[in-house]
This record gives sequence, C-alpha cells and structure tokens, in this order.
Amino acid sequence: MERNDAGKALAEQLPPLTPHEATVEADRCLYCYDAPCTHACPTHIDIPRFIKKIATGNLSGSARTILSSNLLGATCARVCPVQELCEGACVLGAEHKPISIGRLQRYAMDYLWRHNGNLPATAAPTGFSIAVIGAGPAGLSCAGELAKRGHAVTIFEKRALPGGLSTYGIIALREPMEVALEETRRIEGLGVRIETGVEFGKNLSLAALQKDFDAAVLGVGLGGTPRLGIDGEESAVDGLAYIEASKTDASSLKVGRSVIVIGAGNTAIDCATIAKRLGAARVTVVYRRSEREMTCYRHEYDFARSEGIEFRFLAQPARILRANGLVTGLECLRVQLGAPDASGRPAPAPVAGSEFVLEADQIVKAVGQEKPAVAALLGLETRKGFIAVDSDFKTSLDGVYAIGDCIRSTGAASTVMAVEDGKLAAEAIHEQLAQRAQRSALGARAASRQPRPDGAPTGRSSPAGGRLA
Ligand SMILES: Cc1cc2nc3c(=O)[nH]c(=O)nc-3n(C[C@H](O)[C@H](O)[C@H](O)COP(=O)(O)OP(=O)(O)OC[C@H]3O[C@@H](n4cnc5c(N)ncnc54)[C@H](O)[C@@H]3O)c2cc1C
Ligand code: SF4
Repeated sequence: MERNDAGKALAEQLPPLTPHEATVEADRCLYCYDAPCTHACPTHIDIPRFIKKIATGNLSGSARTILSSNLLGATCARVCPVQELCEGACVLGAEHKPISIGRLQRYAMDYLWRHNGNLPATAAPTGFSIAVIGAGPAGLSCAGELAKRGHAVTIFEKRALPGGLSTYGIIALREPMEVALEETRRIEGLGVRIETGVEFGKNLSLAALQKDFDAAVLGVGLGGTPRLGIDGEESAVDGLAYIEASKTDASSLKVGRSVIVIGAGNTAIDCATIAKRLGAARVTVVYRRSEREMTCYRHEYDFARSEGIEFRFLAQPARILRANGLVTGLECLRVQLGAPDASGRPAPAPVAGSEFVLEADQIVKAVGQEKPAVAALLGLETRKGFIAVDSDFKTSLDGVYAIGDCIRSTGAASTVMAVEDGKLAAEAIHEQLAQRAQRSALGARAASRQPRPDGAPTGRSSPAGGRLA
C-alpha cells in the first residue's frame, strides 16, 4: 500500500470538534454538583469545570483545569475507554446522549498545544533527584508531577522514542504517534530529562541509581508477547510488533490477504483492525473461549464487527500449517468450557478428535504481554507475577517504587490508571523526601545545638553511595 493510502487508512478516527460543535456540546452540560463523571474518572478531572470554561471561551483555562489533575490530558482524551468511565457515568446518558467528554477534553488540550501553552509552573529546586525507569504514561506522569514539586528528575528509557505504548502500541486510529511525542516534549518542558536508549539491567545498574538518586521509580510496563507453545509458532507475526510497524511505517507493513488474529483482548482487536484497514480481504479473530469471556472492551468488539472482522469462538489453536515455507492455515480444536480456572473464567477444554482448519496466509498472535522481567532481576516481591507495592507504591526494595502496568495485578490495565499511579506515587515520594529533609535538618540542629528555622525539603541529605531511601 502507498504511504499516503496507509496513513489515511489509519488516520485518527474521530475528527476534532469544530468551535461551533464544541460550544454546542459544552452548553448541553448540566454542570452537576458532585458530578458523577468526575467520580468515574480515575484521575478525578473536574469535568464540569473544564466544560464550563469551554462554554465561556476560556480554552487555556479549560486545558489547565485538565492538566491540574492529569498531565497526559491529550493522550487520555483519545485513548480512555470513556464509555466505561466518565461518559458512562454522565447523568444525561440515561435518557439522552451523554456529553462527549473525551472529545471536549481533546478540543481544550489541542488548543493549548496549538497556542504553545506550557504546563504548570514548577516549585523552587529542592536538591533531590529521582530516577524514573520507563517513559510510558506512568513514568511521564510521575516525572512531571515530581518536577512540578521542584525535584530534579531523569527518565531512563530503553527505546529510541519516549511515550511507551502511547507511542508504539496504541493503534494510530486512536492515538497518532505525534500526539504522544508532543505530550512528552511538554513534560520535558517542566525540566524532566529523558535519556533514551538506556535499559535498566543492561546499561544502567541498581548500584548506579543508589549512588546518584534519592529515589527510583519503576514504570517499566510489561514484556513482549508470550509463547503459545504450538507447532509452527515461529511463522506467526508478533501482534505488538505488527501494531508498532503500522505506526512507524505503515506502508511497509506486510499484510496478508486472509489474516487470522489469535487472542481476544484489545491488542487482538487492534491487530485485526490494522489488517482490515491495510487491505486484507478477510480477517478472523480466533479465541478459545466465548464472546462473553473476551477481555477487550465491548465498544471495541462492536467496532471490529462494524469493520467486517469475523470472530471464531471456542477454537483452540493447535498448529500453524505451512507449505513451501508459506503459511497456509491454522489447525484448531473445538473447545468445551468447564469450571472456572485460576483466572476466574471457564476453563477451555479442547475436544479430542475435533480438529478443523481455518485457511490463512498470515497469522498474528496477540495474546497479551509477559510479566515484568525487572521483578526477577531485582528479586522484588511479586503478586501474580506483577511487582508488589504497598499503598505508597513502595516495592520490597528500599527507595524503589513501582507504578503502571507492571504493578496491575488486578483489574484492566489502562493509560489513565497508569497516569493516576504516577501522580499518587509522586505525592508519596515527595512526602517521604520532605520527611527525610526534616529529619536531617533536626539532626544537624541537634549536632550544632544551634536552632535554625524549619523549611521545605532542602535535598541531598544522605551521603553519596546509598542515597535511595
Ligand atoms: C495494543 C495495546 C492497545 C492498548 N490500547 C489502550 C487504549 O486504547 N486505552 C487505554 O487506556 N489503554 C490501552 N492500552 C493499555 C495502555 O497502553 C497501558 O496501560 C499503558 O501504556 C501503561 O503505561 P506504563 O507506563 O505502565 O507502561 P508502558 O506504556 O508499557 O511503558 C513502559 C516503558 O518502559 C520502558 N522500559 C521497559 N523496561 C525498561 C528498562 N529495563 N529500562 C528502561 N526502560 C524500560 C518501555 O520501553 C516503555 O517505554 C493498550 C495496550 C496495548 C498493548
Ligand atoms: S455528569 Fe454529564 S451533565 Fe453532569 S457534569 Fe458530568 S458531563 Fe456534565
């Protein structure tokens, strides 16, 4: 497919609101007291307040209201499952159409970026420095919130570009790469340093962090696509790589004529959508359980069906078939669902002798992500394979915190949850450092027996060679 055609096929799905549309939509809002939409937002954006500001033409003020609760307001406006969150809770939803909160948020955020508005001002330097590992939504949110409080923050990111899954993993129909990268630049505008191409565990060690930083935050997300353990698996295309290629260079992504996607989560739906939009004649999602157990959002499933994507349920992939080195199909077994397994969903039991073949010339495997490897590397306590943290996001290692997908052992992982983790962890770290500064000021006073006035955190309170605390 030509570059332009590929770009168009995956261009942002919803157009921006026009000024007239935005005003009409904002005017529909009832500006509810104790608004249910705000309660439903994991970052608790004051939604009636930002909508009111749109209605009165104060677009910068509206964007600043959003940013005061969520530094990644432009990303969240696009990728949040609003049907399940704020818009799902809107009081107008019961009898009318809920307010298009996501699109109004995007309208305000796009205005601020277009007019070069900066993020909030930062406090005076505290002298403390914090390392954040991973420049995904969790790491960026935490880094930005810490920088706002005056701390010096460096993000170490292993990939060439920052943004995590917002940059590489979320289908361009929902979030083009440029949006994620622009938002990252705004976070850098707060004074956050981002060093790309630095992988913790490879060219950055815990000892280096302990020597140079007062706290370290792991926002490393999850790993690659797990193995299916079926014959011929090496011929399957990796789903995450498929989405990444569609974002970085869609025109060179090789798409089959008849594509099978194995999986049932949002990654599978995104891969299927990409295949369909980039020219596949037939796309089938194969899942071993039933429609009811799919882990993708319901609205994503409905969208995929509206795109003409087919679904084959109760089918367990058994073998990828090839002829002359080319994929020709997927052999599956019929499945019967049994009693709930460890995941709480009915266990799929393949029926012996029920083999059947689905023809395909490309098979994409989109079966989630592996657990974070950093947990084993550092010997951290884990919960179901995810990094275990306490209510302040502290791991079992002193001075090391963790946020985002790498700690999400329950509930669905989402960008907005990662952003909220980052915000709350920044508050907890700031509090911890303030206490440390106060303790060291008291210690110094006791030693010199000379009373000195109390103050805000004043930094570098612990000796080099073991500052993480
Ligand atoms: C295909 C797909 C589609 C999705 N669609 C949506 C959606 O529409 N809406 C939604 O809300 N959520 C969606 N999600 C989930 C959402 O993207 C994640 O919940 C969110 O990105 C988590 O943020 P994070 O910062 O914890 O992790 P990530 O975004 O994964 O970022 C982690 C970062 O850490 C870096 N890193 C990892 N290890 C190291 C290391 N050792 N050293 C240095 N850097 C490291 C990685 O390169 C990466 O940049 C989707 C996820 C996938 C996979
Ligand atoms: S619940 Fe709906 S109507 Fe009420 S403040 Fe929120 S968006 Fe406006």
